[in-house]
Amino acid sequence: MSRDELLEFDEVVAAFDPVIGLEVHVELATLTKMFCACSTRFGAAPNSQVCPVCLGLPGSLPQVNGQAVESSIRIGLALGCSIATWCRFSRKNYFYPDMTKNYQVSQYDEPLCYDGSVEVDVDGELITVPIERAHMEEDAGKSVHVGSLTGRIEGAEYSLMDYNRGGVPLVEIVTKPVLGTGAGAPAVARAYVATLRDIVRALGVSDVRMEQGSLRCDANVSLMAKGTTTLGTRTETKNLNSLKSIEKAVRYEMCRQGAILAAGGRIKQETRHWHEDGSYTAAGRSKEEAEDYRYFPEPDLVPVAPSREWVEALRATIPAPPRERLAALREQWGFAEPEMRDVAAADAVDLVAATIAAGAAPQAARKWWMSELMRRANAAGLGLADLAITPAAVAQVQGLIDEGRLNDKVAREVIDAVLAGEGTPREIVDARGLAVILDTSALQAAVDAQIAGHPDVAERIRAGKTQAVGVLIGAVMKQLGGQADAASVRALILATLEG
Ligand SMILES: [Zn+2]
Repeated sequence: MSRDELLEFDEVVAAFDPVIGLEVHVELATLTKMFCACSTRFGAAPNSQVCPVCLGLPGSLPQVNGQAVESSIRIGLALGCSIATWCRFSRKNYFYPDMTKNYQVSQYDEPLCYDGSVEVDVDGELITVPIERAHMEEDAGKSVHVGSLTGRIEGAEYSLMDYNRGGVPLVEIVTKPVLGTGAGAPAVARAYVATLRDIVRALGVSDVRMEQGSLRCDANVSLMAKGTTTLGTRTETKNLNSLKSIEKAVRYEMCRQGAILAAGGRIKQETRHWHEDGSYTAAGRSKEEAEDYRYFPEPDLVPVAPSREWVEALRATIPAPPRERLAALREQWGFAEPEMRDVAAADAVDLVAATIAAGAAPQAARKWWMSELMRRANAAGLGLADLAITPAAVAQVQGLIDEGRLNDKVAREVIDAVLAGEGTPREIVDARGLAVILDTSALQAAVDAQIAGHPDVAERIRAGKTQAVGVLIGAVMKQLGGQADAASVRALILATLEG
């Protein structure tokens, strides 16, 4: 559907109530795989981390990774879920080249965690997203398509399989249908995944990096005609690898489905793929129903029956929800509400916290990340955390400013040099001789020279027109290559002219 065939977003929400549902896969950061002792280390040579179990060779027998069960229970508890006293794994049967066994070990009608909810802050409004279940499963391997420009299978000459990821533990978190969000549906979807990511990150059980695939999101969207209570046919959009694309994809699907329904058409139940380049969804395979997978209990694994004592001991390890942590930090740092919201929205809370821990004042830490560094991240198309600068280096730059050794302009140069990999701020300042000139005789000489060079300006300042001092400050700064503190230069000029 071309862009001008879509129904306008305002018209969609005037005629329909959107219903969203989100499925999030979290890759657990265990040392070994879900059912064998193979390493889960990322980036190893293809097929170097495999064994008969994760390759599904005949006669091999899986064993459950206790650490993965523990991490899954902790996720369930943090999402307010009940934890099953007894549950089993199931085989989800289907063929795909990245899965050697022809089935995926997952959980079907007996999930480990069920019936929870997450409070999501959407621009200051709290929305409760109900959680259906959080269950354990194993990841599939990875197909590498060779010879196509895009890395996709279309146009590829051949495909290679890497089974290192096969068998890595996953937790799939599924919401119940989220109703009543209206025009806010895209923002709610985004805020939910951001909150979920923060909750899981705080637990320390996954590094939850969307761009690296350790957190993956599929978004279900359907429309319900206003005044009716029957859920519409939904589509499931895959390949959402950033918070921004979740929001855009939900919005796009609402407008696409709205156009079809408004024209009297019917929505096809299918998976769709999000194309980041053109910001649109395209049809994938028609969506299977659960019965197509012929689920049955996994006969090679014993049931998982976590004791209540264990569950309660794990409950005691659950940190406060991110929302409460933010409120406490805001108080501690003395930030205004909008300042804190911006920091959270920019995913900079941990960066700011680490910068403060390294010695910077809270407002200084916030300003570096939210202005200078944000600008550089945007220009490079990176997230703040991906910039080649550590919170400790940012704190060191601020420390040099506080010592009077750098002014803002030179500090920005130092930041650029750190990003370019030239070393720590102090090393760069020393190597480039960048520190501001603190030597008063050198400053005085420059001030004297510029007063002599601008007699008319000096006269105006003596006559009381002190705003003219800007001209002289500029001239002195230029002579000193910007390496002076403007406030000190100003004071020195005025003192010299008065004397
Ligand atoms: Zn293995």
